[in-house]
Amino acid sequence: MQSLEGLDELYEQIVLDHYRNPRHSDLLTSPAVDIEVNNPFCGDEIRLQLKTGDDGRVSAVSVAGRGCAISQSSGSLLTELVHGKDAAGLHGTVTLVRRLMKGDPVSEAEMDALGDLSALSGVRKFPVRIKCALLAWSALEEAAEKLEQGAK
Ligand code: ZN
Repeated sequence: MQSLEGLDELYEQIVLDHYRNPRHSDLLTSPAVDIEVNNPFCGDEIRLQLKTGDDGRVSAVSVAGRGCAISQSSGSLLTELVHGKDAAGLHGTVTLVRRLMKGDPVSEAEMDALGDLSALSGVRKFPVRIKCALLAWSALEEAAEKLEQGAK
């Protein structure tokens, strides 16, 4: 098991739970976007798929991959935050997660919106791990850009 030093106990439980039991990890059939990203510094891989409804909002998501606990749990946590969002909403969430990981001020309401993902904020003390935590989010940013370009 990789070391998760720096995360307090409650946060560590959330991260490990998502790592061991990833949410929404089944691949989708005919997704609107299908993105693969990797983090060579740690060997993490993430594949993210989205489906959207006629209104352009996310109706289904899949995140699968392999790698360290931080990268994979972040991907699983992501799947709980994208439903019903349009491309602009996805960009907004990516920006908020980046701010959280950089240590920028995040309001209480914004923290609430992130839900369990706030568990990853302890990672920011370890710059190398920030890349792991943000990997899935870079895939989501790419996915949002493709949705804006009208991918179907
Ligand atoms: Zn990693």
